[in-house]
Amino acid sequence: MQLYIYFLGTGGSWPSSDRNVSATAIKRGGEVLLLDCGEGTQRQIQKSALSYMQITKIFITHFHGDHFLGLPGLFQTLQLNDRKEELHVYGPRGMKKLLYQLLHLGYFTPSYDIIGHEMEGGDEIQFDGYKVKCTYAFHNVPALSYSLEEDKRPGRFNKKKALELGVPEGPLFGKLQKGKEVEVNGKTITPDMVLGKPRPGRKITISGDTAPYDAFIEFAKGSDVLIHDATTDSSLEEKANEYGHSTARQAAEIALKAGVGKLYLTHISPRYRDAKPLEKEAREVFAESYVAHDFMEVEVKLKK
Ligand SMILES: [Zn+2]
Ligand SMILES: [Zn+2]
Repeated sequence: MQLYIYFLGTGGSWPSSDRNVSATAIKRGGEVLLLDCGEGTQRQIQKSALSYMQITKIFITHFHGDHFLGLPGLFQTLQLNDRKEELHVYGPRGMKKLLYQLLHLGYFTPSYDIIGHEMEGGDEIQFDGYKVKCTYAFHNVPALSYSLEEDKRPGRFNKKKALELGVPEGPLFGKLQKGKEVEVNGKTITPDMVLGKPRPGRKITISGDTAPYDAFIEFAKGSDVLIHDATTDSSLEEKANEYGHSTARQAAEIALKAGVGKLYLTHISPRYRDAKPLEKEAREVFAESYVAHDFMEVEVKLKK
């Protein structure tokens, strides 16, 4: 199954001519998950390869305007496009009340169900083929970081071993690969006899707005992709941390300690017209660091 990340808004605080405010989409197969939905996100979706009708779940990190003000407009557009499927919106405590407020602005009665879910740090929800976990971020209002982790894949099939055990090539191979027992000449062959260790799926972690903190390292551990707050460069570290944000260098330090595959820096302050210096300082710590930009697409491949 293909897994893509679409950066829809990579700027912090307010939209600039180069960057819209926070929104990231994860497309897994035919499903789109939206993480944060800053003002104007629906327009960003329209300009991307995505369809907003494919969004099944929205995860909001916290209730600063640059992370959720795009919701009411998106809800109304979905209605005008005849959406019938339920839409699930997850967020920290207060999500249900906020949804109620957003749904009672002006004349709007949704024709589809919009269902709010409130999450606590440490919660995890199992979906079809993956789970979403959250932890508390270190921000100046209640905020969550999220990770999407795919279910483990079955181990590699050992054809030689199967043949040695007398399993003929054909449909019985497929059964064993799917984790089912088979009978051969009155002998039971179980999948563990012919399959290697289960292989991990892919993991994507999104910090949301946060100052660096140690517990997050464990949360992000082993991610293929980490998307991290990098509001400023190191010269403004004290100020960034005071407001519950990280610098590019601090994001890279987290990435290094968490042993992630790639780091994407986001929530870039509108003060930077050119964000290359942020990428440069991050790469001094962690080579696989990239400044995300609006409409950047990243494929996350399965490890061999
Ligand atoms: Zn923000
Ligand atoms: Zn914030």
